[in-house]
Amino acid sequence: MALAYISHPDCMLHDMGRHHPERPARLAAINDRLIASGLELALHHYNAPLIERSVLEAVHDPEYIADIWARAPAEGLVWLDGDTAMNKHSLKAALRAAGAVVMGVDLVMAGQAGKVFCGVRPPGHHAEHNKAMGFCFFSNVAVGAYHAINSHGLKRVAIVDFDVHHGNGTEDIVAGDERLLFCSTFQHPFYPNRGFDCRAANVVNAPLPAGADGREFRQAVTERWLPRLAEFAPELILVSAGFDAHQADDMAGLNLVDSDYAWVTRRLCEQAQASAEGRIVSALEGGYELHALARSVEAHLKAFLGD
Ligand SMILES: [Zn+2]
Repeated sequence: MALAYISHPDCMLHDMGRHHPERPARLAAINDRLIASGLELALHHYNAPLIERSVLEAVHDPEYIADIWARAPAEGLVWLDGDTAMNKHSLKAALRAAGAVVMGVDLVMAGQAGKVFCGVRPPGHHAEHNKAMGFCFFSNVAVGAYHAINSHGLKRVAIVDFDVHHGNGTEDIVAGDERLLFCSTFQHPFYPNRGFDCRAANVVNAPLPAGADGREFRQAVTERWLPRLAEFAPELILVSAGFDAHQADDMAGLNLVDSDYAWVTRRLCEQAQASAEGRIVSALEGGYELHALARSVEAHLKAFLGD
């Protein structure tokens, strides 16, 4: 089954300033690596559409969405929190980032792709129901999950998140909704330090201490995620694919390596094969050391192809 890669040139135009780590060069590094590795030839490329506002409104507060529209600048930067800014291209980039995940869901549900990777920015997993934060505007994967439920009639959708930061935004949106299972590994204590103690039955938070490596990560996935995923039997798996837990990434203090991302991807492929007809839609979240990011995405996509 085809592996789709969804992106858009607008995602390169969202720029929060020269020294901001969440920068256009991240996507350029991934693109370069895909070409150099030859993996590019195996991908089916799609341009991300602008998401329809009504689809966003199924997940985010309509007043919050209107506020994002209203604050989008014609020139310069507008800061929404201490580290999240909009330039004149940011709104379109954010609409395409969420639109990519929705398109990915449509592709796998139509059988036009088995696996999808959305090489998009801004990321999404910190964006809450009515709050932009942590470089994120809209909760791309949660939007995709609710699209799968509302438009495709799915009854069980899993979201897994291996970004080094806790996906507080995804959790804020899905906690308590038993149609969704949210499994997350993250460094703790660490940013964003909210929601990590969530008690909702459909949230599986597996915190890892600073310094944890692939052995501890794999143990957390094996013991905490996989049994819950098997029991839930998702009809679709969405992935918040952040690669900032890599040991080369100094954004945080975990020590994963490329092969850990391949390993977790294979485990997700196995679950998808068991309950979801192989369907996985993965979306880029963090990952700021460009070489490690690009290699880790390559490992992630190669594991998809090996499925
Ligand atoms: Zn992160």
